[in-house]
Amino acid sequence: MAAIEKRSSDDWQELDKKHYLHPFTDHKELHEQRSRIISRADGVYIYEEDGHRILDGMSGLWCVSAGYGQEELVEAAAEQMRELPYYNSFFQCAHPPVIELSKMLQEVSQPHLNRVFYTGSGSEANDTIVRMVRTYWDLMGQPGRHTIISRKNAYHGSTVAGASLSGMSAMHKQGGLPIPGIVHVEQPYWFGSDQTMSPDEFGIAAARSIEEKINELGPENVGAFIGEPIQGAGGVIVPPDSYWPEVQRICDEYGILLISDEVICGFGRLGEWFGADYFGTRPDFMPFAKGVTSGYLPLGGVYVSDRVADVLIDKAGEFAHGYTYSGHPAACAVAIANLKLIQRENLVTRIHDDIGPYLQQQWQKLTEHPIVGDARMIGLMGAFEIVKDKQPMQRFEKDLHAGVRFRDTLIRNGALMRAVGDTIICAPPFVISHAEVDDLMETTWKALDLTHNTLQE
Ligand SMILES: *Cc1c(COP(=O)(O)O)cnc(C)c1O
Repeated sequence: MAAIEKRSSDDWQELDKKHYLHPFTDHKELHEQRSRIISRADGVYIYEEDGHRILDGMSGLWCVSAGYGQEELVEAAAEQMRELPYYNSFFQCAHPPVIELSKMLQEVSQPHLNRVFYTGSGSEANDTIVRMVRTYWDLMGQPGRHTIISRKNAYHGSTVAGASLSGMSAMHKQGGLPIPGIVHVEQPYWFGSDQTMSPDEFGIAAARSIEEKINELGPENVGAFIGEPIQGAGGVIVPPDSYWPEVQRICDEYGILLISDEVICGFGRLGEWFGADYFGTRPDFMPFAKGVTSGYLPLGGVYVSDRVADVLIDKAGEFAHGYTYSGHPAACAVAIANLKLIQRENLVTRIHDDIGPYLQQQWQKLTEHPIVGDARMIGLMGAFEIVKDKQPMQRFEKDLHAGVRFRDTLIRNGALMRAVGDTIICAPPFVISHAEVDDLMETTWKALDLTHNTLQE
């Protein structure tokens, strides 16, 4: 018996307007238009209710790494739900899937990351970390060290702590954020700067803004620094090579905990298991979510380094924190099946050696288009910048909404990427084929031409 009734597109859109408050949505704008109802998906394609096929260049929201329609993930969930649909890990309980997954996660990470705490999402993972950082320093006899340094334009989630760690002013305006004890420094966005420094000089300067903040606050007051290896929602901002080594040096020098937010970069997206591996950092915490289950069920968590975990275990007594769905059995079973699939199909190596370079090469060529000023892609995570002039770089006027125009044109023509202002971002499923990459790029060129034409009108 189907749980969901059959309805027409119109009915879904009407009911949607009446009853559903969407996340990150301007509802007034939505109500003037119509929501796009996605009703099924397969491989790298999603389908609208009317049958329109769209190549999903965003893997849902950066999460559907394994692609849609992976029967073994579905089976893993169904089997686990029959066996044990739910049990918690409070009060000295556990269950096989959560233990098995913890062991598997340890095997793919750096050797000092031996323990995992589970959450339902990336936001919750970062909330957990705020409490762990502060508890750790309390237990270390340095209770002053409660401040966490983050970056402008970062994205670390949407809960009160997650949104506070995020560096997005539109989010901070709503709800009186950030909460006390969270401060923001420069992001390593060379293209968005005045471009007077070389990228490497700029990377060092951006990292030094952390050091300046530490000295301004006093090192005895700073507990941790958090950063996405590559900023995702902020516009796929790839830091200059000089950046992360300098950040690691600063954290080491001042004894500050390093949090590498792996919610997007984790589990293979960059052609390494984690962003920290790609950039050579040694994080004390790694929050993750999204790709761990390929989005088939919600699951998040935090890798906790031995440095922190040993102290929490020895000295914290009960760490009074956890979620009803911490380590949900069905979600853990899906994560196990997903990791097995990634390993069996060698998807991380495939991104590193094959499909990554294949897409990167075509992506780089986009800079030959008259309105593309920069194109970057690491693994299967990339962006290009729509510009009016290249030398010196000049953006289109804001009210032309060049980015949104391109995005909408692209979708009409059968492919999906996201617009962050006039930065277009892309993160396709790991299973995308060479022919599908060709298809994606052809549609992109076509949509760029069409957008260029309308901008000249
Ligand atoms: C998406 C995201 C989060 C938040 O994860 P949710 O599961 O949406 O709560 C945190 N950090 C990064 C880097 C993200 O991209």
